[in-house]
Amino acid sequence: MLAYSYVERGKFALLEKPVPSLQDSRDALVRVTLSSICTSDLHIKHGSVPRAVPGITVGHEMVGVVEQVGADVVSVRPGDRVAVNVETFCGECFFCRQGYVNNCMDSMGGWALGCRIDGGQAEYVRVPYADCGLTRIPEGVSDEQALFVGDLLATGFWAARISEIKEEDTVLIIGAGPTGLCTLQCVRALHPRKIIVCEQSEERLRFVHEHYPDVLLTTPENCASFVLSHSRYGGADEVLELGGTEDSFRLSWACARPHAIVTIVALYARPQVLPLPDMYGKNLIFKTGGVDGCDCAELLTLISQGKIDTTPLITHRFPLSRIEEAYRLFENREDGVLKVAISMG
Ligand SMILES: [Zn+2]
Ligand SMILES: [Zn+2]
Repeated sequence: MLAYSYVERGKFALLEKPVPSLQDSRDALVRVTLSSICTSDLHIKHGSVPRAVPGITVGHEMVGVVEQVGADVVSVRPGDRVAVNVETFCGECFFCRQGYVNNCMDSMGGWALGCRIDGGQAEYVRVPYADCGLTRIPEGVSDEQALFVGDLLATGFWAARISEIKEEDTVLIIGAGPTGLCTLQCVRALHPRKIIVCEQSEERLRFVHEHYPDVLLTTPENCASFVLSHSRYGGADEVLELGGTEDSFRLSWACARPHAIVTIVALYARPQVLPLPDMYGKNLIFKTGGVDGCDCAELLTLISQGKIDTTPLITHRFPLSRIEEAYRLFENREDGVLKVAISMG
């Protein structure tokens, strides 16, 4: 089969590899139908994910059809259409039992697919702990609708959930890249009084305006005063930070009202400073990143009810044979690209 692989630092290539086989009674083999490219794939390519193993097939956001299951798999059967979870987790350890699956204590717990073990930019993928890692796609939900359930949407849903958003709240979302847009959809599904999106790029602001006209828009330069004039108690009730820069980190706490929850979803290239003297008396609650991707079934239900639709994020489509081209476009942010879908058929 064809598998897009991490050859060495700076180099990915489309290689011929054997179809994976089951290694454990809880594994499943999935025939991938649709996969996507994520910014984390680029991080692997450029060597900023030290635990990524050279030689592995990349790709950790995908949907497919179950081809084969181990003897102890109970929740899926061959022929089922499934969304694959970015995280591998056992479902039984201390952290899994509390829903903190990102910290699963299994040696393969956390982000393994497409990083430490072969992933899904390939025709087939082996999924460990299939009962936890696969979620059946309901009838009527297409592959494209379900594509981001395991990673981007899981992240947005988790971020919205831990932010404890209430209906009377003003929510500030910083950053409207693909993850920010998925987060926006999950926040919208909770119906807070106001949602403000702060974003630098004109193109992305336009995208939000076109698809979600009820959302208020601002730019980093105007964010602080804009949020102040649109909130009742001196700032946003919840802030979700997806910008990932020094400026966006500073905005995240500066635009929060006293006792607000500040959820840091972003991954930063460098450490950030918490200037505690400046925020003394604001009594902020910070929650930090590392998605617990265990709400895929609920996400698929919301999608089937029409409450979440991320298909407009798919701006480009390529077959696996042209994945190099897809990476080039995604990496160089050409042609207004948000997300690329790679079909295996
Ligand atoms: Zn990802
Ligand atoms: Zn576990």
